[in-house]
Amino acid sequence: MLRKIGEPLSIKEVPDPKPGYGEVLIRVKAVGVCHSDLEIIDGKIPLPKPLPHILGHEIAGVVEGVGEGVGKDVNVGDRVALSWLWWTCGKCRFCLSGRENICPNQKNTGYSVDGGYAELVKAPATHVLRIPDNVPYPEATSATDAVATPFRALTFAARVLPGDLVAVFGIGGLGLNAVQIAKVLGAKVAAVDILDEKLALAREFGADYLINSTKEDPVKYLRELGGVDVALTTVESLKAMRQAYDSLASGATLVLIGLPTGELSLPVIEWILKDVKVVGNIGFTRQDINQSFKLVSDGKVKPRAQTYKFEDVNKAIKDLREGRVPGRAVLVFP
Ligand SMILES: [Zn+2]
Ligand SMILES: [Zn+2]
Repeated sequence: MLRKIGEPLSIKEVPDPKPGYGEVLIRVKAVGVCHSDLEIIDGKIPLPKPLPHILGHEIAGVVEGVGEGVGKDVNVGDRVALSWLWWTCGKCRFCLSGRENICPNQKNTGYSVDGGYAELVKAPATHVLRIPDNVPYPEATSATDAVATPFRALTFAARVLPGDLVAVFGIGGLGLNAVQIAKVLGAKVAAVDILDEKLALAREFGADYLINSTKEDPVKYLRELGGVDVALTTVESLKAMRQAYDSLASGATLVLIGLPTGELSLPVIEWILKDVKVVGNIGFTRQDINQSFKLVSDGKVKPRAQTYKFEDVNKAIKDLREGRVPGRAVLVFP
C-alpha cells in the first residue's frame, strides 16, 4: 500500500474486495513491478484517487468468485490476467476503432482503482483475459504489459516488415521482449544499452548486433549498417531518443515508449526530407495482450521474470530503480 508519496510501500490488512455486478474476484498469484509504479510512488504520475492506494497492473491469478451477471465466459478456477486496462468504455471513437489504449473513459488497474499488489483484486469480467495453460503466472504478468506494449509498438505503430533492421534502445523488461518480437516479425535486430550484461541477454534472445553506447557511438554503428528501418526507445533518456532518431534510414519510423520528462528537439528539414515518422505509443489493447499470450505460449517470446516474495516488494522496487533487474521484476504469492 502506498500511504504517502515518496515513501516505501507498507503491508496492511484491508477488507476483501467484493465483486459487484459483472465483476470477478481474482486471487493474485503474481504481479509485475512496472516503471510506471515507481513514477506513481515518486509523484511524477499523479494519482486520480486519494491515498492510501494499492499499486499493481500486471496481474496473473485465479478467479475466486464471480458477481451477478458475469455469465459463463469466466468461471471460478479460471487462470486469468488483468492489465492496466481495468475497464474501457467500448463506445468512444477510439474503442470503436481498435484503439482502446487511448480510450478517454478508461479506468486503470492500480491507478484509478486499487490494483494487484494484494492477495485479492476485483475487475470487470469483460476485461480479464484467459492465460494459456502452459504459461506460468510470473511469465503471464509480462504478457499483460512488458510484451504487449512492445508488441503494439512494433506491429501497430511501426509496422515492422520481414528483413527490416530494428534497433531497440534500452534492454530492460520491455526491451528484451521487443528484441524477441522483432525477431518473430522477421527483422534483424540491434540492441543498444549501457550495460554489457543486458546486451549479453539480448544476444541470448536473438539480437544480431550489440551496441554498448558508453563504449561505442550507436549512431555511427547503425548508419554504417545503412540506417535502421525502425527504432524503438524504451528508456527514460532524451539522449537515447535523439540517438535513435539520428540512426534512422529514410522512410523509417521511430517509436517512443520510454517516458523521460522534457522536450525532444529534432531537425525539422531533415525530418521531412528523410520522410521519417516519429510516433508515441502508449500501452496496448486487450487483443495485443491475447496476441502476446500466443507468442509466449508458443515459446516464440520468452519473458524473463525475476521473482520476489510479496513481502519483499520494496526490495523489488529498489532493484528496479537501480536498473539491476534482468527482465521483469515480479512479486509472487505462495
Ligand atoms: Zn506496466
Ligand atoms: Zn472508449
